[in-house]
Amino acid sequence: MQITYDFSGKIVLVTGGGSGIGRASSEAFGAAGAIVAVADISEKNGLETVEAIRAAGGTAEFIFVDVSNEESVKAMIKSVVDTFGTLDIAHNNAGIEGNHIPLAELPSDNWRQVIDVDLTSVFYCLKAEIPEMMKNGGGAIVNTASASGLIGGYNLSVYTAAKHGVIGLTKAAAMDYANKGIRINSICPGAIDTPFIAALPKPLIDRVTFATPMDRLGQPREIAQSVLWLCSDASSYVTGHSLSVDGGVVLGG
Ligand code: NAD
Repeated sequence: MQITYDFSGKIVLVTGGGSGIGRASSEAFGAAGAIVAVADISEKNGLETVEAIRAAGGTAEFIFVDVSNEESVKAMIKSVVDTFGTLDIAHNNAGIEGNHIPLAELPSDNWRQVIDVDLTSVFYCLKAEIPEMMKNGGGAIVNTASASGLIGGYNLSVYTAAKHGVIGLTKAAAMDYANKGIRINSICPGAIDTPFIAALPKPLIDRVTFATPMDRLGQPREIAQSVLWLCSDASSYVTGHSLSVDGGVVLGG
């Protein structure tokens, strides 16, 4: 079932909007009437999302960003505000997985890269987004964490550390701004059918599917629906929460 939300006139930023979960979230916000800033390091993918939103009758623009670079994140927010006048909602979603190898074999530069793209990026985004939302008297932010932010995973040390960090950062940020009208939550997808998962070896995909009580991968739109709920007035008393949308995968912990 698809719940319909009304984000008419709201200015929404989605990072990693060029693919997978970010594309689904961008399209869902666009279909709900929002004006969507689709930010991505891939111009080609980002423009495809923009075209899809426009083809469905919505409004969207592409903004280039490398979320691991603070100056690039500041430029992204400036571009959103210069183009649309303000920022109401942000989905900080861009991320990479890193190498699938035991911790002792993980190259330190891969550690730094994944921490930069998956965790430090969320700090940069929050730092740049919150002052703009304060000017409006409030806003809503969702950070994409992962089931790997709640439980450990084999051969996934840096990704697991980064996503646990996203959940901690979300809680701390939510406390700082709870009485200033800004709600900040995280979403914890299980294995979702996106290019991110498709890039994994088939035996690994089979293993995560087997570990999922619902016996299937999730669809990006199932994450998008939860992101929209967390950004809507339907969740007006929810902040600092980490919402599992994972077919039950963390239940066996
Ligand atoms: P995806 O690979 O389909 O999309 C990720 C997008 O992020 C791409 O468009 C990519 O170009 C962009 N991106 C990567 N590095 C970037 C950077 N430095 N700056 C800006 N954009 C960048 O992946 P997805 O599956 O949609 O994943 C999105 C988020 O969901 C990630 O944070 C990921 O960790 C998280 N997640 C995914 C799954 C899953 O199973 N797919 C599960 C849990 C969490």
